[in-house]
Amino acid sequence: MVLAELGQKLTGALRKLQNATVVDEEVLKKVLNEISMALLQSDVNVKFVKKLKDNITMQFKLNEQTGNSLRKLILQAVAAELTGMLSVDRKPFEPKKGKVNVVMFVGLQGSGKTTTCTKFASYWQRKNFRTCLVCADTFRAGAFDQLKQNATKVRIPFYGSYSEVDPVAIAKEGVTQFKKEGFELIIVDTSGRHKQEDDLFEEMIQVEKAIKPDEVIFVMDSSIGQACYDQALAFKKAVKVGSVIITKLDGHAKGGGALSAVAATESPITFIGVGEHFNDLEKFEAESFVNRLLGLGDLRKLFDTIKEIVPEGQQEQFLEKLATGNFRLKDLQTQYNSILNIGPLNQFMSFIPGIGNMLQGQANEKEGIKKIRR
Ligand code: GDP
Ligand code: MG
Repeated sequence: MVLAELGQKLTGALRKLQNATVVDEEVLKKVLNEISMALLQSDVNVKFVKKLKDNITMQFKLNEQTGNSLRKLILQAVAAELTGMLSVDRKPFEPKKGKVNVVMFVGLQGSGKTTTCTKFASYWQRKNFRTCLVCADTFRAGAFDQLKQNATKVRIPFYGSYSEVDPVAIAKEGVTQFKKEGFELIIVDTSGRHKQEDDLFEEMIQVEKAIKPDEVIFVMDSSIGQACYDQALAFKKAVKVGSVIITKLDGHAKGGGALSAVAATESPITFIGVGEHFNDLEKFEAESFVNRLLGLGDLRKLFDTIKEIVPEGQQEQFLEKLATGNFRLKDLQTQYNSILNIGPLNQFMSFIPGIGNMLQGQANEKEGIKKIRR
């Protein structure tokens, strides 16, 4: 699970509420201080943290005399404040079936664009979109080979060139060709160069002009924490960034800061990168994310995922087999194979209320998956 450390600290603080015999201002203060510390250590902006503290204290005071359950009230207020911090009003773009959707990826070099393009392509391919990849990075040596290897691994058609040096020309040719071939989702990977150079921004603007994407996705590495705010704004100024994907949330303690900083720029976060494998991409929804972070689970997602594991039409048969004791080794194998296809196993477990944070730090997930495979 991402931001495991933050999640553990937050649930630890909230547990104090459950354990206290009486919830009074003293207890609230202790809990809020712990929550604040945890958020600040995750690099969340101090302004947000203060606002969260003030809002919850105010709610507590308003309800102190009413006899309402204060424990529940505080828990709900914490969840609501964190969700608000990560939410953006604007609804993000979603590719539409039966239509050509051109999506352009931008971001600094090393932020994870090429990897994320492939994860994104694979995600939508699993949702039955006819998907393809275009490599418009002519700057980095071996960029085309990297995309080619990735695309081949997830079996997605790709376009690129070893000889053409003009990224605008490649992007245009690739998109035109795939459009002709009737692809529904055309994903264009661009170069990142080094820092926010003028050249990079100029190139991005030219590619954008040439292919007129339906959506520009900005990919950002979470390790810089709240510094994400300035970077996101700079890219937004240059091209029409519609949504953001934040990567490497599996390894960085500053992830909370990155997420809240991006939300503050009013760009919706649509996915988060949680590892180097092509399955390690999670759809991001603020409320669900916060509930899981606080160990409250997400039943809707749990049931959706179960539906994915046991495909439509087979569910009744599956239950019947279980009920009558006719569940064979072969059926178990089928289930395991589906489980391995749904993505990170810890993510699935975190949908279950009360489980989420108990798994943290325990059982290495990769080891677990290896065991299932065996
Ligand atoms: P690009 O220069 O923006 O195209 O970045 P790449 O896609 O080449 O990625 C740079 C490095 O980051 C590679 O080693 C990737 O495997 C790694 N990477 C990308 N996304 C993630 C992620 O979500 N988690 C982790 N741990 N590594 C990632
Ligand atoms: Mg790249």
